[in-house]
Amino acid sequence: MLDLKIMVQKYGGTSVGTADRIKAVAERIKRYTEKGFSVVVVVSAMGKTTDELIALASQLTRNPSGREMDMLLSTGEQVSISLLAMALHEIGIDAISYTGSQIRVLTDGNFSRAKIESISTDRIVKSLREKKVVIVAGFQGVDDEENITTLGRGGSDTSAVALAAVLGTRDCEIYTDVNGVYTADPRIIAQPAKLKEISYDEMLELARLGAAVLHSRSVEFAKKYNVRLHVRSSFNYEEGTIVMPKEEMMEKFVISGVTAKRDEAKITIRDIPDKPGIAARLFTLMGENRVYVNMIVQSTGKDNRASISLTVLKSDLDKALKLCETMRKDLGASSVESKVDIAIVSAVGVGMLSSYGVAGKIFQVLSEHNVNIEMISTSEIGISCVIDDMYAELAQKALHKIFIESEQK
Ligand code: ADP
Ligand code: ASP
Ligand code: MG
Repeated sequence: MLDLKIMVQKYGGTSVGTADRIKAVAERIKRYTEKGFSVVVVVSAMGKTTDELIALASQLTRNPSGREMDMLLSTGEQVSISLLAMALHEIGIDAISYTGSQIRVLTDGNFSRAKIESISTDRIVKSLREKKVVIVAGFQGVDDEENITTLGRGGSDTSAVALAAVLGTRDCEIYTDVNGVYTADPRIIAQPAKLKEISYDEMLELARLGAAVLHSRSVEFAKKYNVRLHVRSSFNYEEGTIVMPKEEMMEKFVISGVTAKRDEAKITIRDIPDKPGIAARLFTLMGENRVYVNMIVQSTGKDNRASISLTVLKSDLDKALKLCETMRKDLGASSVESKVDIAIVSAVGVGMLSSYGVAGKIFQVLSEHNVNIEMISTSEIGISCVIDDMYAELAQKALHKIFIESEQK
């Protein structure tokens, strides 16, 4: 354990979106230094910079090299770390900025979705001991061949939690543009309730199923290394939401959140032989080609033939379809179909573990709104339905109304 009182803070894109916002963030950091904290700050790229860089690349190529894309995207964070350091200097706070590679954020070599393997604390601790605020570029690392890598969209949250873990601190504040974690995305539901606390498991499930407020891997790390995440707004000083172990929670809801994931597509392979080893071949092939598969449903076989439906990221669809087509020919399946306009709508809550009839109620609500369910998957604390994307907002509103708004009355 270090003898320093370390606080890790992460500021998202909107929080550092303009020079004035960067000044406001610097003032907030100053307050923490005055309270005796050694502050480590992780920042995202300013505003919509990452989107703009992606759009720029797409004007040049449909298939950018992974290495060059990560090289490009990592520049966004390099701008914000240096500007924040300057803003701190301007108000008399000593600060130093570091890129991921400068503090050896070592990752695997999976460009655009790299996983952090280790982080060296030497340089950070040395700077903290020199009474400097340490500012680290989020979202980026470096692989063992010195290529710059990025951690996937929203990955700065993960950089922050990983730093808190290696520095051995329990405190990590995630500053964003909403007051905390809500029962639904405030951009979709007019007045969702703010949760005072949420368990790691529920937050992980919500993040995995589309709630962009936290990067799902950041929640995995937080749970594993027992880091308490405080998700809060950089626009005010209100308390936000604490993400914590469920044993420490005061309140448990049947459903604590509703969300939708809209970046996946569905593939169906029809009439494949219904015998051992077929699914194994298909999904091994997907894995070997680094296609991330989320939901899988196999229909009951008839006449020794079955159908398999799966969902993959839209960005992997072309690759996945080629692999399925190869399998179709090999196995003599009748067809491979895909659908891009789907949404995976989910309800999540630890209270589900001790309640009956939640699934029935979800399906009932969707049917009352004439929403057809194309695939279903469940976990201990979540139920997800694949539906047509045109109903994504309607379905979230309906589920939120029945499970959350009516429960609050
Ligand atoms: P940042 O740049 O600060 O990381 P993000 O855009 O990645 O910000 O995440 C914050 C956004 O997440 C909010 O503006 C909100 O629209 C969205 N969001 C989705 N689901 C939720 C939820 N359940 N609670 C709070 N925000 C949510
Ligand atoms: N700038 C990156 C993105 O927009 C990482 C982050 O914001 O967390 O996805
Ligand atoms: Mg984010």
